[in-house]
Amino acid sequence: MEADLKTRALGVLHRFYGYNSFYPLQFDAIQCVMQGHDAVVLMPTGGGKSICFQIPALLSDGCAIVISPLLALMKDQVDALQAMGIPAATVNSSQSDNFNRQVIEQVYAGRIKLLYISPERLLSEVEQWSSQIKISLFAIDEAHCISQWGHDFRPEYTQLSTLRQRFPGVPIMALTATADRLTRDDIARQLNIPDAQLFMTSFDRPNIMLNVVSNVSSNDKMKMITRFIDSHNGESGIIYSLRRADTEKMAARLRTLGYNAAPFHAGMATVEKEHVQTAFLNDDIPIVCATIAFGMGINKSNVRWVIHSNMPKSIECYYQEIGRAGRDGMPATALMFYSFADVITLRSFAQDSGQAALNMNKLQRMQQYAESDVCRRRTLLSYFNERYEHDCGNCDVCLNPPERFDATIVCQMALSAIVRTGGKEGLSTIIDILRGSAKTDIVAKGYNTLRTYGVGRDLSAAAWNAYMLQMLQMGIIDVAYDDYNHLRVTQFGWDILKGARRQVMLSKFSYTDRRATAAATKEKKPRQGQLQDMPPADKELFEQLKATRLAIAKAQKIPPYIVFSDKVLDVIARHRPTTREEFSCLYGIGEKKTEMYWRPFTAAVKDYLSSHRQQ
Ligand code: ADP
Ligand code: ZN
Repeated sequence: MEADLKTRALGVLHRFYGYNSFYPLQFDAIQCVMQGHDAVVLMPTGGGKSICFQIPALLSDGCAIVISPLLALMKDQVDALQAMGIPAATVNSSQSDNFNRQVIEQVYAGRIKLLYISPERLLSEVEQWSSQIKISLFAIDEAHCISQWGHDFRPEYTQLSTLRQRFPGVPIMALTATADRLTRDDIARQLNIPDAQLFMTSFDRPNIMLNVVSNVSSNDKMKMITRFIDSHNGESGIIYSLRRADTEKMAARLRTLGYNAAPFHAGMATVEKEHVQTAFLNDDIPIVCATIAFGMGINKSNVRWVIHSNMPKSIECYYQEIGRAGRDGMPATALMFYSFADVITLRSFAQDSGQAALNMNKLQRMQQYAESDVCRRRTLLSYFNERYEHDCGNCDVCLNPPERFDATIVCQMALSAIVRTGGKEGLSTIIDILRGSAKTDIVAKGYNTLRTYGVGRDLSAAAWNAYMLQMLQMGIIDVAYDDYNHLRVTQFGWDILKGARRQVMLSKFSYTDRRATAAATKEKKPRQGQLQDMPPADKELFEQLKATRLAIAKAQKIPPYIVFSDKVLDVIARHRPTTREEFSCLYGIGEKKTEMYWRPFTAAVKDYLSSHRQQ
C-alpha cells in the first residue's frame, strides 16, 4: 500500500514537476494526509513545502483548498501550477465577481484540483460549497499568521480554528517556514489539531553564504556595496535598511551611479509598491532597496543576494530576510553591515517597543551573531535550537578563520561551574567563581567552597567573557531569558562535560580587534559559487538561456522564474539538449514544460553550438 502510494507520488512528481526524488520529509507529509491525518510541516524557505500538499491534491478525488494570506502569493502559486499543467485556480477580490463565479463552477464540475483562497473569503463562502464539492484537504500556507506570538499575526487566520470541527473528515495540513519556537508551538493549538503529526526538517540554508562586515565608514560601505553588486552582474538582490528615508537615499545613490534600483517601503503609495514589486519579479528592476516591509509575498526564486546595510533587530528577522535569497537552491550571498550606531538606534527602538526586556535580549543575540568568532551558521542554528556540530565552510569566519586552540578543558571548567550553581546564576557570577573572586556575594552564597572556585584564574575576565560567548554561540550553553538570564548547560554541553565528545576548539581571545581592522581594508569576495564556477562558455550559454526565458516570460506575461528557475537553466547550460527527447529528461522539466518550451530552448542551444563551432 505504502509502496503503491510512493510509486504514484513519484509518478506525479516526475510528470508534472520533472523531479526524480523527494526532498527530506516531503513524502512522509504526503503519506500522512493521504491516510487522513492532520499534519504540521515546518521547513525553511526553499525546503519544498508546496509539493507536500500539491501532490496529495493531485492524487485525491475532489479539490484541495489552499489558504494563503496574500493575493500576490496566491497568484504566484497558481501561475506556477498552471505553467506545469496542473489545474489550479484562485477566487479573490482582485478578480471580477463574474470570473470568481466561473472559477467556482469549474470547481463544482471537478475540473480544479487546487483552489487558492483567503481565510476570510473561505469562511464566508464555505457553507455554500461544501455540500456540493468534495474537499480533499485543507492546506494552510504561512500558518504562522495564526499565532499572536509571531511577527505576522493576521486576525483573519484565527477563524480557521473552526475548520477541524466543521469538516471532521477532511485532513488539515499547516505549513510554515517560521523558525520561531513560540510561534511554531502555537500553530497546532490555534488550529485545534492536537493530533497533527509534525514534520520538521533542518532549517539550514547551506547555499546562502553568510558575511558580516563591522564598523566601516558610510563611504566605504557604499564602495563595498557597489563592488558587491558589480561582482553579481545584473542578478536580482535586495538591500535592507532600517529606515524608510535610507531606502530612498540608497536607491537614489545607486541610480546616480548607473544601477537600476528602486526603493520600497510601507510609506509608499500602493500603486507604486505594486509597480516596484512586479518589476522586481519580472527581472525588470534587479535591485530593490527596502525596509522589512518588502519580501513577504515574494516567491521569486532567483533572488541571488541580500544586503543588510544595517543590522536587523533580531535573528528571526535577519534569518527571514536572508532567506529570500536562493530559494532555488543555487548559490546565494548574504552580506550584513554592522556598526555601533546600529546598536544605539536598535536599542532605542527596543526600549520604546513596549516589550523592552524581550527585545533587548533579541538584539543582544543579534549582536553576538555579528561579533561572532565561530562559524556563523553554527551561531544561527543554535539560536534556533538546532544541533549543527561542524563548521559550514560557507561563511566569512570559516573562510577567513581566527586562530583556534583546544579549549575542551576551558569549556569543562565553565560547564562545571554552571552545573554546581544549579543553573541559578548569570554570566558575571560564573566568571567570578571561575576566577576565584572574593566578592561578598560569592562568599555569602558559599560559592567559594565549590570545587570549581578559582580554577580559571589564569584567564582574564575578558577572556572568559569571550569564551563563554563562543560557547553560547556553539550551543554548549544557553541563556534562560525568561529566568533572569541564568546560564544553563545544553545536552551538547553535558556531552562535553562528561568527556563524551572529541575536543572543542575555540578561537583565541586577544586584545586586538581583528575585525575592526580587517573589515576596513579587506574586500569581502563572494564565494565562487556554482554559477560563477562554470567554464566561460557555459556562462555565455547561461546568459543566452536567460534571454530566451525573459522573452518567453514577457510573451506569456508571467515572471521569468515561473518559466524555469535559475537551477533549471543551469542544468540546460550544462547538458545542452538539442532534441525534444533530451530536453524532456532534464531536472525540473515536466511534460507540460517540455511541450511548451523545448523548441525555443533547444534552438538557443543549437544557435550557441553552431556559432561556437564556426569560431
Ligand atoms: P517553500 O515553499 O518551502 O519555500 P517551494 O515549495 O517553493 O519551497 O520549493 C522550493 C524549490 O524547490 C522550488 O523551485 C521547487 O520546485 C523545488 N523543489 C521542491 N521539491 C523538490 C524536489 N523533490 N526535487 C527537486 N526540487 C524540488
Ligand atoms: Zn561557517
